[in-house]
Amino acid sequence: MENQTILTPQDSLQTSEDDVKTYSVQQREALPEEPRCVECGRYGEYICDETDDDICSLECKQKVLLKFKQPELQSSVVLPAVRLPATDECIYVRDGSNGKSEGHSLTNAQTELVRNKFEIVVKGDCVPSPVLSFAHCDIPQKLLQNIERAGYEIPTPVQMQAIPAALKGQSLLVSAETGSGKTAAYLVPVVSYCAKFRKEVGSDEKKPLVMVLTPTRELCIQVEEQAKVLGKGLPFKTALVVGGDAMPRQIHRIQGGIEMIVGTPGRLIDLLTKYDIELDRVSMLVIDEVDCMLQKGFREQVMQIYRALSQPQVLLYSATVPVEVEKMASSLAKEVIIITVGKLNEPNQAVKQVAIWVESNRKKQKLFDILTSKQHFKPPVIVFVGSRIGADLLSEAITVTTGLKVLAIHGDKSMKERRDIISSFLLGEIQVIVATGILGRGIDLLHVRQVIVFDMPNSIKEYVHQIGRASRMGKEGNSILFVNEENRSLFPELIGILKSSGAAIPREITNSRYLTASLPSNRGNRKRKANC
Ligand code: AMP
Repeated sequence: MENQTILTPQDSLQTSEDDVKTYSVQQREALPEEPRCVECGRYGEYICDETDDDICSLECKQKVLLKFKQPELQSSVVLPAVRLPATDECIYVRDGSNGKSEGHSLTNAQTELVRNKFEIVVKGDCVPSPVLSFAHCDIPQKLLQNIERAGYEIPTPVQMQAIPAALKGQSLLVSAETGSGKTAAYLVPVVSYCAKFRKEVGSDEKKPLVMVLTPTRELCIQVEEQAKVLGKGLPFKTALVVGGDAMPRQIHRIQGGIEMIVGTPGRLIDLLTKYDIELDRVSMLVIDEVDCMLQKGFREQVMQIYRALSQPQVLLYSATVPVEVEKMASSLAKEVIIITVGKLNEPNQAVKQVAIWVESNRKKQKLFDILTSKQHFKPPVIVFVGSRIGADLLSEAITVTTGLKVLAIHGDKSMKERRDIISSFLLGEIQVIVATGILGRGIDLLHVRQVIVFDMPNSIKEYVHQIGRASRMGKEGNSILFVNEENRSLFPELIGILKSSGAAIPREITNSRYLTASLPSNRGNRKRKANC
């Protein structure tokens, strides 16, 4: 759509089929699966060049731009200065004149200090120094403004190290605790790359440049939303490719020209086999929740997508990175830099864990007790269970017994239902959400400070992700785990996790006769359906 924003009375109300609609009244209503205009809700036939919003007409484009083109952010915003203990020298204050920074390359000693201070460990050659301010990254000015608008004043530790390395073109395997800003740690380099590429190469050719894979639809939606915030006003359009949304709409968007595809592997492969999408320009592949994505089930699909690309830079992220993933990472890219922030595979320290021994037939009653206790119930709460049917049944039982507003979310629900449930949860319309593992990873349910793990997942790694929902950006939260003998195969690891966080270990676990070095494989704990 042309960048025409001024409407005059001469603008005709008549349009032929191919004309861009001038007024919103000329546009028809949107059909159920079609994009909707962000201003008036009619059919979003066009995408606004400058904001990437779906719009129906020039009239609505004008309205969108009026809102968007607020007075530009002052480029003299001064970011907090960081004082390095050894030198006591104040560096990293942003230069107020043009938004560029000065004097921000770190000496080796300072690099070491910063890494020690923020528990950043790097493995690999030529890893750049961390940055203590976004203004010290080589990124477009507009992106810097978007970062500020998003309220990100200074980079989180994972961003300090991962952003400069990714901007340098290095392939990365990054692990940092849940809620530590990993998404922006890859989106900032992604948006920067796309904007620079289109500026340098020109924007006539609109093949996708970046692909982001995540295990769940919800996480894809969240990543796309965050990407839109960071890419506003830049040549950066996105396409969401997840099951449950109409495929023709997805392909329509990709063919219209986009920079980044974010999707789940299954639907992407479906789309790639049915339609001819040129992927030769994709030079960045992000795999979020990489440990889950390289597990059986997803692994072959991910590799199939990877093979369709021509040796992209790979950015692999997760809170939990087992050794096998490290090995796999090196088969995806030649020189992978490994960045670890905090202690590897450990739970978010801001979440206070409580583990309670509860026999299976007592779990429901225990849950009702917590949910009706003024002292212990801290809504909004996520209750994690092991099966879809279990989620539905438990949510009904909670409603009946406690009168609380509860909904269940799982993979059998339609995309629309899942979206609606999450938004009512975020709006505070429901107090409890009963979820399967689909909400366990990456999802940023901002106000949640309490997680109840009703059914222990089949791995400690998954448990770490689930309780991670109770804290974002270091805010304190709490988690309650119901554990009993059915989970005995996880006792040794669970003890380690609870100990590392200073949580009490139920006496039944410490005294368990199953707590031996080698545990027999047991019927009761056979692998449940994967949580991803
Ligand atoms: P993530 O770990 O990517 O799920 O991010 C957790 C939360 O932190 C999200 O709500 C982000 O919007 C927010 N966030 C990410 N980076 C920063 C930052 N540098 N400063 C403040 N908030 C941030």
